[in-house]
Amino acid sequence: MTGTVTNWAGNITYAAEELHRPPTLDALRALVAGGSRVRVLGSGHSFNEIAEAGADGVLLSLDALPPQIDVDTAARAVRVGGGVRYAELARQVHRHGLALANMASLPHISVAGSVATGTHGSGVGNGPLASSVRTVELVTADGSTLRIDRGDEARFGGAVTSLGALGVVTALTLDLTPAYDVEQHLFTELPQAGLDAATFEKVMSAAYSVSLFTDWGAPGFRQVWVKRRTDQPLPDFPWAAPATEKLHPVPGMPAVNCTEQFGVPGPWHERLPHFRAEFTPSSGSELQSEYLLPRRFALDMLHAIDGIREAVSPVLQTCEVRTVAADDQWLSPCHGRDTVAAHFTWVADTSAVLPVVRRLEEALAPFEARPHWGKVFTTPAADLRARYPRLDDFRALARSLDPGGKFTNTFVRDVLGE
Ligand SMILES: Cc1cc2nc3c(=O)[nH]c(=O)nc-3n(C[C@H](O)[C@H](O)[C@H](O)COP(=O)(O)OP(=O)(O)OC[C@H]3O[C@@H](n4cnc5c(N)ncnc54)[C@H](O)[C@@H]3O)c2cc1C
Repeated sequence: MTGTVTNWAGNITYAAEELHRPPTLDALRALVAGGSRVRVLGSGHSFNEIAEAGADGVLLSLDALPPQIDVDTAARAVRVGGGVRYAELARQVHRHGLALANMASLPHISVAGSVATGTHGSGVGNGPLASSVRTVELVTADGSTLRIDRGDEARFGGAVTSLGALGVVTALTLDLTPAYDVEQHLFTELPQAGLDAATFEKVMSAAYSVSLFTDWGAPGFRQVWVKRRTDQPLPDFPWAAPATEKLHPVPGMPAVNCTEQFGVPGPWHERLPHFRAEFTPSSGSELQSEYLLPRRFALDMLHAIDGIREAVSPVLQTCEVRTVAADDQWLSPCHGRDTVAAHFTWVADTSAVLPVVRRLEEALAPFEARPHWGKVFTTPAADLRARYPRLDDFRALARSLDPGGKFTNTFVRDVLGE
């Protein structure tokens, strides 16, 4: 029987009839202990079946638990509940004069769901959002609680970017830094001709966070978003012309949905995301895919996509190219390698998009492309295995914490090659 709970994009309807919302930690522990298959739905912003619990499984939301956000200014850390979203977290943290190191393009997503899939923003020196995590608190298969700290060398590498396969994350403790201000400077028409590897590095290193956008209708980039911390030097940006109007990364969408531009300084959490918390992010009617490659392949990646742009462009709303620093999480798409990422916001038409996704994966395969876990991909398990050197360590950790496979699902089994 088909349920009625869907993801944000509406392309996935979960099989469960009901979304369980336990109001207390004890109620959550009892639900977990009593279920044969359990998965958590965060804010539902993933585009595939990663959160699926199955028809006889328990699909859980943590949004009825008290929204815990405990800032420890002395330790420069925040303990945040498993259902909390970045928008609320960022506001609270900022009130204490503190900040997160980076944010994704939108603040609407849950912290636990984001770090579970390796979600990231941009910046040559900024790791994925999971790199701020100090401690993970879980409810495991028998309903007991478990805490895994950064110093736990045997387990921490699998504990954060876990695809939800180890247990229910009830709280995370995150690193904070002193608050900072950011300005957004937008540029238009960065040509691909003349963009060699050295220039690409200079463009992407021009500021704290840089994103390139294109529709692949022609070579080169239609927009460049340069996010400068005001405590860092003003970048010289000779490669493209300053924008003359406010822009949205998806052509035709209103710029009012986007965070403040034209170099107006503002708090980190109102500039690092592209989209304002109070508006629908992106186009709202879309599918997404993203591939993360070693940064040394950046130019190869751009040429490979350019080579199939007649297939990509008709089903594309926008493509964003970002950089992400390497991290240590075993299942992180940035594991062990400084990364260049190509994100695709597709039209909301699965049958038209899937053949293009396959062509894209073929074109990017020589460059060790790892798909974003929360987006549409078809990469075979054998290729994933070759691209994730610590996959077996993750599998062993999942088996030791969840021997009966209560938190697994078809998506996780496919990824782990089981
Ligand atoms: C408009 C839009 C823009 C986006 N921009 C970016 C971007 O800039 N960068 C980027 O990297 N990605 C981006 N994404 C993708 C998004 O960040 C990921 O899909 C992310 O996982 C969403 O978090 P969520 O809470 O919605 O997770 P969900 O989709 O709800 O869940 C993801 C996974 O986390 C698990 N999970 C969630 N909460 C818990 C918990 N408490 N305990 C255990 N497991 C849990 C779920 O079971 C599932 O396996 C974007 C998505 C959208 C729709």
